Amino acid sequence: MTVDIAIIGAGIVGVMAAQKVLKKNPNANVLHLEQALSGSGATRFSAAFAPLFGRNESVLNMAIKSRHDYEVLKQTLPNLPMHEMPSYFIASEANLAKYNKKLDQSCTQIGSDVDWQSDIMQATGFNRGPEHTLLTHSVGSYSLPVDFLNVLIAQLNQHPNYALRQCLQLTSIEEHHEGYQITTSDGNTYQAKRVLIAIGPWFRDSPFVHAFDPMDIRLKKVMAFHIHKKPMNDARAVFYCDHDAFLLPIKQAGMWVYSYTCEQWDSKPDCNTLPINEKNLSTAKAVLQQIAPNFVSACAGGSSFCDTYTNCTTPIVQKSFVGDNMVAITGTGGSGFRLAPALAELALEKFSEGF
Ligand SMILES: Cc1cc2nc3c(=O)[nH]c(=O)nc-3n(C[C@H](O)[C@H](O)[C@H](O)COP(=O)(O)OP(=O)(O)OC[C@H]3O[C@@H](n4cnc5c(N)ncnc54)[C@H](O)[C@@H]3O)c2cc1C
Repeated sequence: MTVDIAIIGAGIVGVMAAQKVLKKNPNANVLHLEQALSGSGATRFSAAFAPLFGRNESVLNMAIKSRHDYEVLKQTLPNLPMHEMPSYFIASEANLAKYNKKLDQSCTQIGSDVDWQSDIMQATGFNRGPEHTLLTHSVGSYSLPVDFLNVLIAQLNQHPNYALRQCLQLTSIEEHHEGYQITTSDGNTYQAKRVLIAIGPWFRDSPFVHAFDPMDIRLKKVMAFHIHKKPMNDARAVFYCDHDAFLLPIKQAGMWVYSYTCEQWDSKPDCNTLPINEKNLSTAKAVLQQIAPNFVSACAGGSSFCDTYTNCTTPIVQKSFVGDNMVAITGTGGSGFRLAPALAELALEKFSEGF
């Protein structure tokens, strides 16, 4: 049988794509291949924080679209572990105009001093200077990424036309008269009319090595540290615009997640080579000292992997190297969870024959 689409990779991007295909066309046959277990790539390490923020207008629009799609999904799957997370954004005067453009319009500037005196500001010990402005945002969310994927996959598995095959690696793709012939690590072959490549940081691996080269993407280490302090009941996330860092309270886990921008490039997607090292910790703590000095001594361990980045900071969704019906998604730039529904939608629009 020739399936309508083969989706390669079962991280958040691939799973959102499968969900969208079957929503658009419940009669479509979907073969979903994953070389390990679903959600065991970058998605597993994600803080899954999704504020309405974008590095440029196009990414902000993707974040807004994704937020809408996640909300609709949550209505049909109330047990989806996605939690509302209102946020503060702190920017210095010099950066305010720049950041205002990156936030959606529901983000407002705080006019009074009340929020500056909130429990969060006191708990973190942020040293407010006269140049700082506080913005507040009522929308945003965070999720527990692996649980989130498990709920989505359980729903997909109910569908008679969906087949997820795990611990099967795609090893070759060739054009075939009705589309593509793909071969998996167990030697089996499958025929698919369309192929969607959502393989996250494995883009340099065979057989994709020639698919992504012109796309100008690189891998960067991404880390989220744990702050072993219990968040208050009304704790919000705080995004420090000047440092490109955030603090996210995870009440279920009784701790905060702290993300800062690591500049360690050209990593490999291999957990054994990506533990937090001394340099990462000291750089992260130096930033933390400025934004939340009271948290420095409680910062230990966390989550560390890598993600794909583009030069232009916008993810890439484009037709790929073989034939006309193969599309690849890459360059998620440490924001793949926040942008996955919009990226999946863009990818499906690229196929010559839609769904
Ligand atoms: C520490 C950390 C914190 C982060 N925090 C956030 C955050 O707060 N918010 C946010 O939006 N984003 C965050 N991110 C980024 C986000 O996790 C990624 O952008 C997102 O998970 C990418 O999803 P993906 O589906 O593209 O890739 P992946 O989750 O890596 O999925 C790709 C899958 O493809 C499979 N695969 C690869 N090659 C093959 C093959 N040949 N055959 C079959 N399967 C294959 C892999 O096994 C993998 O499961 C964070 C990332 C890290 C590392």
